[in-house]
Amino acid sequence: MNLIKNLLAKSGIAELARLTLTRSGRFALNLHGISSKRYANIPKDLQPHHSADEFRRVLSWLALRFNFLSVDEFLRTSKPGILVTFDDGHANNLTNALPILKEFNAQGLFFVSTQHVINPRDWLGFTRLEAKRGWGDESHVPEDFARDCFDGLSASHLAELAASPNAVIGAHTVTHPFLTQCAPDEVQREMEESKEYLEKLCKKPVDYFAYPYGNYNHTVAQAAQSVGFRTAFAVDTLHTGLPAYEIPRVGIYDSHPDYLNLKLSGLHRRPLREKILG
Ligand SMILES: [Zn+2]
Repeated sequence: MNLIKNLLAKSGIAELARLTLTRSGRFALNLHGISSKRYANIPKDLQPHHSADEFRRVLSWLALRFNFLSVDEFLRTSKPGILVTFDDGHANNLTNALPILKEFNAQGLFFVSTQHVINPRDWLGFTRLEAKRGWGDESHVPEDFARDCFDGLSASHLAELAASPNAVIGAHTVTHPFLTQCAPDEVQREMEESKEYLEKLCKKPVDYFAYPYGNYNHTVAQAAQSVGFRTAFAVDTLHTGLPAYEIPRVGIYDSHPDYLNLKLSGLHRRPLREKILG
């Protein structure tokens, strides 16, 4: 797979494809936490995929090749360009991602799991596993690293993020479960409770949802619709017949130009052409 990727990158095919296939389409990108810096003594796979410098490099690369779209432009027009989305709702979305979005005059759509907003140290399950893997016990995670990389947005930080014109808040459940493994009433509770909590805190309607781990099926998509979300974002789509509830996203886990060229070449994922909401 790496050989094919390298060949594609070196041959210029990815860049050519990007120029011809993606010029008139739209992509939603999926990012996660953004750390303030790289931590030399901590394994890379325990750190967020991007540091602030790396995220700035991604946006610089994008800014030369695409327009940044607001959430409304992405969903309600067929304007070509990029929508940047972030999953999970880590504290670093406010401290590290938002200032860089502002530098580029771009808007981010932030999908927030509410458990670690209610208590920023009540880490999500996958963060707990990382803490265990790296340090054996949550209490041994270095304080500066925990605050920068693992903590959730506090309620006051989330309100601050929501008030920025460069941010729109969406829901990402309460506890970040695999929704296809939950009972129907659990799915509904995860969606409803996060929506209501965020609406109260942000004093705005929360119309958008993203499936944790991109994990959904037709029943889960129907639940997102019946709870009152206007759209839901996936990663890989299953084509269950509810296109507004399975918007594809391109996961971005690196900042190298060859990687970005491939991911946004139209060979990895077809760009969207039609508008999503009427
Ligand atoms: Zn997530």
